[in-house]
Amino acid sequence: MSALEHRLGVVGAGTMGNGIAHVFARAGFGVTLYEMSERAMERGLAAIRTNLDREASKGKIDPAEAPAIFARIRPVSRLQDLSACTLVVEAATERLVVKQEIFRDLDEMLGPDAILATNTSSISITKLAAGTGRPDRVIGMHFFNPVPMMALVEVIRGLQTSDATFAAVRALALDAGKTPVEVNDAAGFVSNRVLMPLLNEAMFAVMEGVATAEAVDEIFRLGMAHPMGPLTLADFIGLDVCLDIMRVLEDGIGDPKYRPCPLLVRMVDAGWLGRKSGRGFYTY
Ligand code: NAD
Repeated sequence: MSALEHRLGVVGAGTMGNGIAHVFARAGFGVTLYEMSERAMERGLAAIRTNLDREASKGKIDPAEAPAIFARIRPVSRLQDLSACTLVVEAATERLVVKQEIFRDLDEMLGPDAILATNTSSISITKLAAGTGRPDRVIGMHFFNPVPMMALVEVIRGLQTSDATFAAVRALALDAGKTPVEVNDAAGFVSNRVLMPLLNEAMFAVMEGVATAEAVDEIFRLGMAHPMGPLTLADFIGLDVCLDIMRVLEDGIGDPKYRPCPLLVRMVDAGWLGRKSGRGFYTY
């Protein structure tokens, strides 16, 4: 099937899910967007509207096009409403049991050729695939935040992912205006395996009093040309998300160099989750 013939579904209308629905709709696809929380759906749809308006005001899309793009997204409140989809990208909360349940239910209701993709940051594609009757049609499709702006999609092959599934998802990423990069399934894939230890080490530097958060960030912005320093980036990603990923790396790779920084653990315990809670390494 050519990528353009797909009937696309997205699970979760949070930070990533609403961005994924946005880029698919912007590329001309109809998208069925499922979210279990009514409030999260409202917030997700509002974010899509705001982001489309911003793109229109910056001349990235034709302002007259924005309503048509938005209208291609069909919000639904039951998972069964995705049953006619030929490819679903799951972007629900980063918990193995949550994703396993969604995959099991989708596996039962989707047609036999449908592809199940996950936007997980760190959970094993091979393990998620093994819980379905279609492990050859399960794959990682890892978008980056903010999805409408970031070019990369890490396409992760599980142990049993077929070449046809990989080719279909690669083609879809290209049609959505993204650049797919192929990686194999290992904890944190490439992006988070390399990025998270950098963020974690920056936290150790702050905890040990080597430098302030501001100083660490300035070093990376001015010395390494990073657009955002590591602690600003950690606040942006969410400190709870960073901690979850460090734990997946520690468990999955088993090397003590992936131990989460105790300061990170304490901040998450305190509810200081970064930008989304108003306080992290900085105050918002
Ligand atoms: P989020 O908390 O903003 O959104 C998750 C959404 O999933 C919530 O709205 C929640 O209500 C919904 N949800 C939870 N269980 C569900 C279910 N059973 N059915 C339907 N919806 C359900 O989280 P996010 O940041 O959008 O992350 C989503 C996924 O994307 C995670 O796997 C995360 O690791 C991954 N990811 C996140 C980022 C990032 O920067 N935030 C980047 C790349 C990948």
